[in-house]
Amino acid sequence: MSRRTVVKIDEELCNGCGACISPCAEGALEIIDGKARVIKDELCDGAGFCLGICPVGALSLESREADAFSEQAVKIRRLESQSSGTSYIAQHCMSCNASEDERYLLPVKYKGGALWCCTRCLPGLIHG
Ligand code: SF4
Repeated sequence: MSRRTVVKIDEELCNGCGACISPCAEGALEIIDGKARVIKDELCDGAGFCLGICPVGALSLESREADAFSEQAVKIRRLESQSSGTSYIAQHCMSCNASEDERYLLPVKYKGGALWCCTRCLPGLIHG
């Protein structure tokens, strides 16, 4: 274990909506007993992409003692999710609402929020 940045969930604020589950590419979050939880520290890379997705501000980052992030653990987690048939919620472009099933989406951080932008809309975002 070492001190590093990981996601923190405010259980009082979390309403269990599940909006943060799919944006976590590592599969670190799961709804358990109606609340989002980091199921294993080694799955959370601390990038914080889930933060801006939460509609009630229940997610933040904290620095604490945690197991090191593990790419291997993420691979195993993905395989487990595929075999269990866990449903995946596709993300949508912040501008045109295209689904990731239709176009490539790229992550965009802005004023603390975490959004997605498709490759077709990205030039407009860059050039204003
Ligand atoms: S998006 Fe926020 S409120 Fe919804 S499950 Fe995740 S932490 Fe809880």
